[in-house]
Amino acid sequence: MTAELHAFDCSVVVVKSVIDAITELHGVEYDVALVAFSLPPRTGADVVRVARELSPETEVVVILDPGREDAPVDCVRHGAFDFLHQPINTHEVEDVLERAMNRRALRTSTAMFRASHAILSGTKSAELPRMMVDLSLDLLAADGVTLYRSDRSGRLAVANEGGSTREGDAAELLAIAQQVAKSGASATPLLVPEDGAGEEVLAGTRIRSAIVCPILLDGQLAGILAAYRSRDPRPFRRGDAERAGVFASQLRLAFDNELLLAKTVVTERLAAVGELAAGVAHEINNPLTYVLNSCDAALCEIDDLGIESPELRQILTDLQEGADRIRVIARDLRTLSRGTAEAEQFDLGDAIRSALRIAAPSLRGAVDVKSEIESGLSVVGSPGRACQVFVNLLVNAAQAAVSCKPRRVGLSIEAHRQGERLVATVKDTGPGIPAENLGRIFEAFFTTKPSETGTGLGLSITRTIIEDHGGTIAVESTVGEGTTFTIDLPFTAEAASGKQTAA
Ligand code: ADP
Repeated sequence: MTAELHAFDCSVVVVKSVIDAITELHGVEYDVALVAFSLPPRTGADVVRVARELSPETEVVVILDPGREDAPVDCVRHGAFDFLHQPINTHEVEDVLERAMNRRALRTSTAMFRASHAILSGTKSAELPRMMVDLSLDLLAADGVTLYRSDRSGRLAVANEGGSTREGDAAELLAIAQQVAKSGASATPLLVPEDGAGEEVLAGTRIRSAIVCPILLDGQLAGILAAYRSRDPRPFRRGDAERAGVFASQLRLAFDNELLLAKTVVTERLAAVGELAAGVAHEINNPLTYVLNSCDAALCEIDDLGIESPELRQILTDLQEGADRIRVIARDLRTLSRGTAEAEQFDLGDAIRSALRIAAPSLRGAVDVKSEIESGLSVVGSPGRACQVFVNLLVNAAQAAVSCKPRRVGLSIEAHRQGERLVATVKDTGPGIPAENLGRIFEAFFTTKPSETGTGLGLSITRTIIEDHGGTIAVESTVGEGTTFTIDLPFTAEAASGKQTAA
């Protein structure tokens, strides 16, 4: 019989008593157990019962005593999968093994299907970590499962955990997950101690077997799903790691959806704020026209009446200047919100000057600004969106400069034509960007600022706008020295050139 089983490409372990069978099932998870009904000192029914308790995934086939035709009720009640009659027929064995393996595979895929369905059928993102942990506990027959999410600095924090509450297990699992996180980002699930991380990872811990599934978003570690067995001595098997890997990829999709949803919410909020600003700017325009006209009229009236009052004249002139500034601000706000308008030809210098005026409240007191903008920098696209690019870069520089206080930070903004290209640079002498962040700053939601200041969307939107205009944006930065953003855009019409310099 053993030889025949080997011929089916099975790896076979033979035991000769109920005790040995129970010990074996306790230590290893088998796909199928073939159990003789009369196994000393008890009956196969005991093995069926214990096998179903210790290893519910193992299918148990009972070999009936010679001459017995009917299935013993006890074995059926305890969940035997099928029966074989003696003398054993090779075809019958092959058939029963195939069906047992199919049933096992079907059970696993049904459970995986249910789990995937539950994850993807509109579960609220806040409930997702709990659900994932519960499903993994169940499907992997794990003693404990933890879902970690990595924070902005790459540190792992528990998002949810379930199963064993044995003191020390959580810390030991975290140490294993950290070790995996340190060894680099790969989405392949690891079976510990078999893969990469060897026995030494588990040395001194009570964890006997673990599965660690890194969850990557845009190539970065977004989280880890880790399962372990500490009470159950049966090590996880390759199939468990693969199942956990499928979970992790579902979870990645769910994280992705969560991110997309958050991005949509923020973008919609920004769009609504832009629309509101444009509406307010429009409403301001009418009363502003009366104010400006009235100032003009009052100044004429003074002249007509021959009133000699330099103070009154000064008051009216100040009023006129103030109202004029409000008009420019309202115009800039309207430019900024004209994000989705059809492409038009515009002067990049005008968009930069609008951005400088809009960002002025943030820049004042934070940085010393210098600008050198050539005239005739003609571009085709959206002036509002181009203005938003420079507002983002200027506000970022001003916010970064705060950490340099009391040192004064310089900011220079330049825009020139170079052949058929326009090159604009925004250069600050602020704190600079650490090398580990430099590759991530254009990622959506990457921010080092507190949640009330940063959304992590500014540079991601900036890059999208520049690329929509057929351009590129690059960054260079040295910690302690400053940061330079360089924007390159296609020039679209011949224009005369001259220089405007302002300090
Ligand atoms: P947010 O400003 O909301 O954080 P951004 O996408 O605009 O989002 O910027 C991402 C990150 O890039 C910032 O959190 C900051 O760490 C870094 N950064 C951007 N510009 C500068 C700058 N001029 N100096 C230093 N750090 C910067």
